[in-house]
Amino acid sequence: MSTSTTTPAGVLESLPGQLLIGGQWRDGRGGAFDVIDPATGEPLRAVADATAEDALAALDAAAAAQRGWAATPARQRAEVLRRAFALMHDRAEALALLATLEMGKPLAESRAEVAYAAEFFRWFSEEAPRVDGGFRPTPEGTHHILVMRQPVGPSLLITPWNFPLAMPTRKIAPALAAGCTAVLKPAEQTPLSALAIAQILTEAGLPPGVLNVLTTADPEPVGAALLTDPRLRKVSFTGSTPVGSHLLRGAADRVLRVSLELGGNAPFIVFDDADLSAAVDGAMAAKMRNIGEACTAANRFFVAESIAEPFTRMLAERMATLAIGPGSDPRSQVGPLIDAAGRDKVAGLVDDARAGGATAVLDGGPLPGPGFFFAPTVLTGVAPDARLLREEIFGPVAPVLTFRDEDQAVAAANDTEFGLLAYVYTADLRRSLRVVEQLEAGMVGLNQGVVSNAAAPFGGIKLSGLGREGGREGIGEFLETKYVGIAR
Ligand code: NAD
Repeated sequence: MSTSTTTPAGVLESLPGQLLIGGQWRDGRGGAFDVIDPATGEPLRAVADATAEDALAALDAAAAAQRGWAATPARQRAEVLRRAFALMHDRAEALALLATLEMGKPLAESRAEVAYAAEFFRWFSEEAPRVDGGFRPTPEGTHHILVMRQPVGPSLLITPWNFPLAMPTRKIAPALAAGCTAVLKPAEQTPLSALAIAQILTEAGLPPGVLNVLTTADPEPVGAALLTDPRLRKVSFTGSTPVGSHLLRGAADRVLRVSLELGGNAPFIVFDDADLSAAVDGAMAAKMRNIGEACTAANRFFVAESIAEPFTRMLAERMATLAIGPGSDPRSQVGPLIDAAGRDKVAGLVDDARAGGATAVLDGGPLPGPGFFFAPTVLTGVAPDARLLREEIFGPVAPVLTFRDEDQAVAAANDTEFGLLAYVYTADLRRSLRVVEQLEAGMVGLNQGVVSNAAAPFGGIKLSGLGREGGREGIGEFLETKYVGIAR
């Protein structure tokens, strides 16, 4: 894909649309399936449909390449990643358009995603040569302890549709930096961005078989064939909690290393001492980034009673001004939701809340087609048993609830099975630390509405997952520790 092909037809036609196995682009044994444009409901283009047999061919290639890639000097592995980082920047416009076409988000957000996604290649190119070990004496003085860190081995990387560029790079980069080979299975809704990344890595000099890509409309048999094969050593999954726990059960028989980045139900707490306009800015970012289709999306707003009225009014006013339209139109600020099922799920959650007594301060809702658009909605008076307080909304809907004091705010925020992220707005330092310490979440945005950064350990607790991606921790998910006892 070159920089000159930044028209929809250009970016779509420059993609291979096949499976990448052992350095070769191949057709899928299952034929092909269409990728749908969520802004129109029409097919964008067809890609290969992999079967379980294709999956095993991809693992053959990954297993065959494992020894050579692990033995490749870390500096050389790093340079491939660094070149991929540069190529992503060279092709930023084409990649952004591709992500927008298949996922729906506004172009400005796709451009930000290209930069975020590329950053994983740069960050892990810097981490690759820093993998180290240790040398220690035993307390008894009987022998020495040598600690080595080695690649886990062939890894299965499964990614969701909501960040079609960044979710693949957040896994590919640490896996390759650690010396692991991989099979990537992107989401069936958004396989095109993943193919573009594979194309870039190939051009960056990645040896055949180190990264293999399987696009498929039917992920279960592909996943099952790989999880039960003794050559696979690791599965790293980002997606919904039910699929994540299904894969965790599947990984149990072979005791695979597992990393899971799952769903969220982020609380967004605003104390009465907070800078109100900064809190509304943060709320807009935390709610509206990615059309609300982010695991990090603020799902429940808890606002101190004394400022709830102005906060809700300001938030509703801001959400009402957003321009809704196809992400590829540069004026759009709210693109379509991913598909009819996603739009209908959001509508169902709003209907359930309203049936339970909620009031729409901003009365958005599903829009007529073509495409799967949903207008921003703000709700108050939401009953405690409303489904949207328990489930990920994954759309532009903001339920605003109130609290009397700090203890009530923390208890309400923690009243969820999820624990990915929480947001807190307060100007009081002692309160900040007290509250942050008590929140049951893997990440906290303190007076800020976006936390994602390649240099930070991203991940959740409770039903939100296992392990961390990014930061110094990310590469560790793809490394084993070996201890060698050395006689004195
Ligand atoms: P999903 O769970 O439906 O699908 C995720 C991936 O799993 C896709 O590639 C899909 O094809 C694959 N998959 C589905 N069933 C499978 C099976 N039986 N075997 C193997 N693979 C299978 O999730 P989604 O709808 O694509 O993404 C949205 C979800 O992802 C939300 O819950 C969101 O919170 C979560 N998410 C989490 C993070 C995070 O970092 N915690 C980031 C982004 C998205």
